[in-house]
Amino acid sequence: MKVSYKSYSLPFKHPFTISKGTKTHQPTLIVALEHFGFVGYGEAPAINYYDITVEKMIEDLERKKIFVEKFAFSDPERYWHYLHHLFPANPFLVCALDMAGWDLYGKIKRQQLHQLWNLDTAKAPLTDFTIGIDSIDNMVAKMQEQPWPIYKIKVGVENDIEMVAALRKHTDAIFRVDANAGWTLEQATQKIPLLKDLGVEFIEQPLAKDDWDGMKALFDASPLPLIADESCVKESDVEKCYQHFHGINIKLTKCSGITPARNMIKRARELSMKVMVGCMNESSVGTGAIAQLAPLLDYVDMDGPLLLSEDIAEGVKFDFGRILYTDSPGLGVIPENF
Ligand code: MG
Repeated sequence: MKVSYKSYSLPFKHPFTISKGTKTHQPTLIVALEHFGFVGYGEAPAINYYDITVEKMIEDLERKKIFVEKFAFSDPERYWHYLHHLFPANPFLVCALDMAGWDLYGKIKRQQLHQLWNLDTAKAPLTDFTIGIDSIDNMVAKMQEQPWPIYKIKVGVENDIEMVAALRKHTDAIFRVDANAGWTLEQATQKIPLLKDLGVEFIEQPLAKDDWDGMKALFDASPLPLIADESCVKESDVEKCYQHFHGINIKLTKCSGITPARNMIKRARELSMKVMVGCMNESSVGTGAIAQLAPLLDYVDMDGPLLLSEDIAEGVKFDFGRILYTDSPGLGVIPENF
């Protein structure tokens, strides 16, 4: 197998603000695995909060490239286990390589992954569209710029309720709210009933990622479902979230790829928990991978390419939240300029 890679800095259409800060660009790494004349692509965006940069991914990959290439590839799950042991401290890099392995596998089999897994794409939920934190006027303008059936609204600031109430005046769409760990238990307890009255569907990551006592108290009292994001990183976290959250938001990058994400979905279902997969502002390469899993989910947040002003691949498109799949095998994406 031959591995190559390229890094990009993808510009956002509008500066993107959440409770942790503002970004104008999304750095991301694309890897390509070439085998038997097929090329599989995978992606991992860099996220400061998880302390992994594109440079760190490249440094680790360069150091062990020979081992990545010498693996006798037959199926992506075996490959993930190998990668996981090769890069135990770099789940983002493992994600990019695992995704490329799955893309390669689908291309060799000449089918999209959802076909190989016998999933019905008609069951895929609609994706939401994210509105980052901004002035109320700008948030309303961003919402009106993208008419959509479901919005995910970033909160975690002083005037949260005022923001959501102002947006509600302009639409009947479903609202989801993501506090990105920005509230205290007291704030969450006070705000969640008000958000319920504003027609919010669920709350994502209300408290700090390790505030398990706070979450237990909130779980027992919350009038809205609570979905773990920062508290649910890897496979073993699903169990920890049980009876602290009603569901989990899996991100392929943080859990280290499609292989562990499928295990997390299975475990969450066994525990009767809701399942969402979210993006980290990936290009259409990463969202192609999310689209393959979408029929297994209750909720999906895969609007990365809609928030960015440049894309690096032809991939899934959206029709008012509905995923429009392509005919290409693997992840269903065709990278450009790679
Ligand atoms: Mg989140």
